[in-house]
Amino acid sequence: MGKDERYDVVIIGGGPNGMATAAYLAKSKLSVCVLEEKTECGGACETQEPIPGVRIYPHAMLMYASPAPGFDQLELYKYGFRMNWDPMDPLTPEATSMACTDGWRRYTDKDMEGWGKLAGLFGTPPYTKELLRATFWCPPHPPEVEVTDDNVPYMQVYKEHQPEIWSPELRQGTMFDILDEYCETEHWKTAMAYAAWASGAAGHWEGVAIPAIHCVQLLILTNTGRTSYPRGGLHGYFHAIHRCAVAHGAVVRTCCPADEILIDDGRAVGVRLKEHAAIGGRNIWANKAVISACDVHQTFLKLVGPKHLDPGIIRKIKDISLKNQTLYVSQYLVKKPLRYNAKFAEFSDTRYVGPNKYPWGGIYPCDSREIYYADVADCDSYKTKPTLPPEQKMWFQAPSLAFDPSDCQGYHPKGHITAPIEMALTSPDYHVEGEDAIDKYRDELGQYLTQCHSSMFDGLDEDNIIHHWFATGRDVEYRNSGLIGGTWAGSRHCEDQLWENRPIPELARYRSPVEGLYHAHQTSGHPGGLCLMAIPYNLMHILIEDGIVEPAEWWYPAPQYIPQEGKISADPNKKSKV
Ligand SMILES: Cc1cc2nc3c(=O)[nH]c(=O)nc-3n(C[C@H](O)[C@H](O)[C@H](O)COP(=O)(O)OP(=O)(O)OC[C@H]3O[C@@H](n4cnc5c(N)ncnc54)[C@H](O)[C@@H]3O)c2cc1C
Repeated sequence: MGKDERYDVVIIGGGPNGMATAAYLAKSKLSVCVLEEKTECGGACETQEPIPGVRIYPHAMLMYASPAPGFDQLELYKYGFRMNWDPMDPLTPEATSMACTDGWRRYTDKDMEGWGKLAGLFGTPPYTKELLRATFWCPPHPPEVEVTDDNVPYMQVYKEHQPEIWSPELRQGTMFDILDEYCETEHWKTAMAYAAWASGAAGHWEGVAIPAIHCVQLLILTNTGRTSYPRGGLHGYFHAIHRCAVAHGAVVRTCCPADEILIDDGRAVGVRLKEHAAIGGRNIWANKAVISACDVHQTFLKLVGPKHLDPGIIRKIKDISLKNQTLYVSQYLVKKPLRYNAKFAEFSDTRYVGPNKYPWGGIYPCDSREIYYADVADCDSYKTKPTLPPEQKMWFQAPSLAFDPSDCQGYHPKGHITAPIEMALTSPDYHVEGEDAIDKYRDELGQYLTQCHSSMFDGLDEDNIIHHWFATGRDVEYRNSGLIGGTWAGSRHCEDQLWENRPIPELARYRSPVEGLYHAHQTSGHPGGLCLMAIPYNLMHILIEDGIVEPAEWWYPAPQYIPQEGKISADPNKKSKV
């Protein structure tokens, strides 16, 4: 048994949410300890090297976070954060075409204008940052506040900046309903709905049209129209946030799995490590708060345990479904780079990037919403192995970073590494043939994925493929305990999972039924995964309200934030209790 330690705040889990929370709190001059069970922090923002010299992105790669206040508040540029410069000109014919079963189809100025209006690009000045922050980087309103068309944060921003757009329908319809009003072509609408479905709030759910549109808009740098990704991928981002936390004094302990959240008289007072932890099975005490940044089931059902929770809340937490679709990520190491096949030959010189001219990326096939619905049914309804013919199965290839020679996908002497190609499939837990079914037909599935990708690319034949990595749902789960949803909501696929209802009202604002215990993981609280630093930023409002942290003048709250009655306002201009 090692010697006990004591900090102001103990955080369980060194993924992006745990580490960004540590950075915020350490910068606010609290002593903070992060406990991570693996040898390395980063959660799903990892890069792996399965063969020496061959690095791949098995999970996260795209940055859905350009408007995050954390870049500015935590000054991540000081800690090495850099963006990559996507060389693709967003206005050329090759960039304004969607891949369909018969080849490229261009989208139109009307598509762009309609999308631009909904994304706040045509305000004077443009207000995209304010709009996206309002949708994701703002804590849900306190329970005593009735949610109306007037006080939903993004509705407030539309009303202030472009009142002619504001209408109650923005909150009622589906993304398809709104795009039918504002945009023109079916392939554009289908591509955007699929991108939304893979990212979070899906294109066919009622009541989340604007979050669905905005979760796609998050991927675009609005001042350039180019795709947003950090140098070194999300692992590069994670290094910056990790360095920031450590530079402000946070202590990070790897190989230190939490075994139990210690609770005294109804209050969380620390964490007990497992006996085999690198520093031994000692207690890590917390003066002010314990923050769990690992999944909601483990946090409450194992680390807290039933003796400290009301049976009603246990039932609700058990009912939180962490699994809907699973994103299968394929990466190929090939002898010769892939090439677009004959159907896509139109841009045979220009839709490639980098010295090796690697295909740039995109969504396939975007013909019509019928294809989208067939894909949704295949994954979310039938819950079997994929039933669609390979040429009709939807997937996307993340934009290639091969233009950056220091990136994984840059030139490699023994072959070429493709950008991740991702496809949504039934998650193991809901598979009608049982949760191990996918493992049983793993090889068949690998061949199916290659057939699907061959609908667009030449070069996926046995002679050219050195290795094909693809993660099944189980692979993803075992590698990252939090990343079990495959969407940012990390939760059930339906509209009642967002904002103040996400995933259950009791947890949406990061507080928990145990005093002094907060939950800051993608499987709980608004907005879930993908929006880097959103949970930590939103949680800061709550920790300030509870008197746990008092950040200096660098802090600013979300403009639409409403303080809870009887608490300290997180708005420094309204310091006293409201
Ligand atoms: C296939 C895939 C692709 C994705 N693509 C993108 C993308 O392109 N862009 C994007 O922004 N996001 C993407 N995401 C989502 C993103 O990676 C997650 O939203 C993010 O990693 C969630 O962070 P987190 O800190 O909440 O959880 P996690 O990243 O899961 O971190 C939780 C951490 O807690 C640790 N832990 C668990 N239990 C314990 C314990 N008992 N004791 C100590 N430590 C513990 C885990 O080891 C882990 O490090 C993707 C996810 C998947 C699965």
